[in-house]
Amino acid sequence: MNNAIYNFREPKNEPVLTYAKGTDERSKILEELDRQYNSSIEIPLIIGGKEVRTGKTGKVVMPSDHHHVLATYHMAGENEIKMAVNAALEAKNAWMNLAWMERAAIMIRAAELLSKKHRYLLNAATMLGQGKNIYQAEIDAACETIDYLRFNSFFASMIYSEQPLSDGQAINRLEYRPLEGFVFTISPFNFTAIASNLNTSVVLMGNTTVWKPSTTALLSNYYFMKILKEAGLPDGVINFIPGPGPMISSVVLKHPDLAGIHFTGSNATLNTLWRQISENLELYKSYPRIVGETGGKDFIFAHNSSNPVELASSIARGAFEYQGQKCSAASRAYIPRSLWEDTKNELLKMIGEAGMGSERDFRNIINAVIDEPAFDRIMSYIEFARSSDSAQIIAGGKGDKTQGYFIEPTIIVTTDPHFRTMEDEIFGPVMTIYVYEDEKYSETLRLCDETSAYGLTGSIFSNDKYAMIEACRTLRYAAGNFYINDKPTGAMVGQQPFGGARASGTNDKAGSHLNLLRWVSPRTIKETFLPTTDFKYPFAGIQK
Ligand code: NAD
Repeated sequence: MNNAIYNFREPKNEPVLTYAKGTDERSKILEELDRQYNSSIEIPLIIGGKEVRTGKTGKVVMPSDHHHVLATYHMAGENEIKMAVNAALEAKNAWMNLAWMERAAIMIRAAELLSKKHRYLLNAATMLGQGKNIYQAEIDAACETIDYLRFNSFFASMIYSEQPLSDGQAINRLEYRPLEGFVFTISPFNFTAIASNLNTSVVLMGNTTVWKPSTTALLSNYYFMKILKEAGLPDGVINFIPGPGPMISSVVLKHPDLAGIHFTGSNATLNTLWRQISENLELYKSYPRIVGETGGKDFIFAHNSSNPVELASSIARGAFEYQGQKCSAASRAYIPRSLWEDTKNELLKMIGEAGMGSERDFRNIINAVIDEPAFDRIMSYIEFARSSDSAQIIAGGKGDKTQGYFIEPTIIVTTDPHFRTMEDEIFGPVMTIYVYEDEKYSETLRLCDETSAYGLTGSIFSNDKYAMIEACRTLRYAAGNFYINDKPTGAMVGQQPFGGARASGTNDKAGSHLNLLRWVSPRTIKETFLPTTDFKYPFAGIQK
């Protein structure tokens, strides 16, 4: 029996490989891209560790070449959804009774496999299936996924060692029970790391999950399931059921043993799920934990003490990396009139140099957006701006979906701070800029705070400390991740715990111990050494 008290040391973030010309990693990823591009695989459901094929299938295609089929996947029906819930419930007992350190060992092993053996597999699948260039895939599928696995094991050791006081007459303990029942996880298309963490953070704490992955991220998500299996994850701990979200949730959310949902996606989807849970409240044994991270209308705000080149580069990277399809992507900016000309010139120069095309061609920084509905939605916002008197498109504005879903990085300048593209989440390569008069700094900060329903990320650029601090105060609730003199994207696990409030979600901070705490339901245990033998207290029974 293992009676060691084990604590994981604080890990370091996984180093980001460069993939520069001539490197070993560059030739390996090119080889893997060719291999995956030239083969088409079959993606089954994985329930209780078994591959299940329903025969009701769909295609996984490339956003940059939508005639090219990467995989055929099987969809869950009502029967398979019920099987997945049962498998999660059956696996629960053995899994939660395993020493937590043994669960963590599986996570750390998965991180090692990903770092040393399967890095190119997962990066290539994320590039082809989700339309990322190699750098965007590396920081997501490899580095962030590895960081979640390692850091969460470290955070879990902090949680488990946190214990209440004991006074010598009794011993007090907190038992960090997993939630009672199973957890339903629903993941978005845009980050392989998020899809993995929605499951692994939950199961690390002793829970089991039913996972509905995004249809447009199936290739990488399926390979991640295989890596977990190789790392030793027992059958039934995570049950992988691709298929139509509304149908799957209509069955899962009616189950009495639903203990929680771990969701990342749009605000509209979280609202739908939350409503369904409220309607089913009487059915459940416990109040389900709802952890949901949703969209953003993330801003960059410049004070006139900032540097136009630094500002332009942060706008270009913050708004257009991964085609603006990060929840943290900058999509509105407030620039003082005195800096506007210089900032604009720098910005136009920078985005003019960004190549657009397939992720297999490493000259391209900009790739395709995820699918046709996304392409049509983003283009409709651009057309709206084109036809408006209060906006002007100063860069980009064109899209082409003949072969892949390509949209040029687009910059809109508006004279209306409440213009639709200043308020709605577009989730594409579209940045809207409002130029304000320098003397209206404080007023425009308040405008920024009140403009959108979201509160996810935002940046202030300022070299004036008083102005910087004023922005921190006025924008206190405008962003859950607030950056000073940096772009609002690129949060790192362990360094910038991630999440926002207002319409952006429950702000449970992925990449920190705060998220893990949501997946335990602590039990306090007091053991008294000498139980009392009396009913009366000293004050009682004596008159004066
Ligand atoms: P989405 O809401 O369309 O889909 C998310 C997941 O929910 C998918 O798996 C989808 O199939 C599923 N789904 C949709 N309707 C459902 C229903 N009725 N029942 C059950 N499942 C359902 O989001 P998306 O397009 O995949 O991702 C983009 C969104 O995610 C953006 O709004 C983005 O800002 C947000 N996002 C937020 C964060 C964050 O940490 N805050 C991170 C990444 C993405």
